[in-house]
Amino acid sequence: MLKDMALDAVKLLVLRKMVGKEDHLKLLMRWVNNNESIGDLVREYDVEKYAVRGLKDRFMRKLGSYQLGSRLITITVPVILEKVPVVFEKNTCMLCGRMLLYSAPEDHLNKRHGKIVREYTERILREALEAYVNANNIRVETS
Ligand SMILES: [Zn+2]
Repeated sequence: MLKDMALDAVKLLVLRKMVGKEDHLKLLMRWVNNNESIGDLVREYDVEKYAVRGLKDRFMRKLGSYQLGSRLITITVPVILEKVPVVFEKNTCMLCGRMLLYSAPEDHLNKRHGKIVREYTERILREALEAYVNANNIRVETS
């Protein structure tokens, strides 16, 4: 199912925002859109290259199409940056108060707060698609 694949992929981006790594998403959007050099981008944003490359690879693998993946990143990242809250501060999860020292925050959110993550992801995908449809004057049969 394309929708499930898209949700799975977009969830990766939503999680990245929730743990406070907005720069990864901004970089990713420029990377897939503008043909900018990854070396220049990681220097500008001061982030680990492998962390962004890994995100992109996992995202694209879930969709199986680079073209579709790039488009999906372009339409969802602005909505994620605007609407998804950061819920980690100083290694502490603001949703449950747990401090994480040894496990990855994204894994924690996925395991312990999966329902919230899923709700955000569904909402983001829906809003991004609606914005895209409106911006491009695409007519959708609703009956
Ligand atoms: Zn938590």
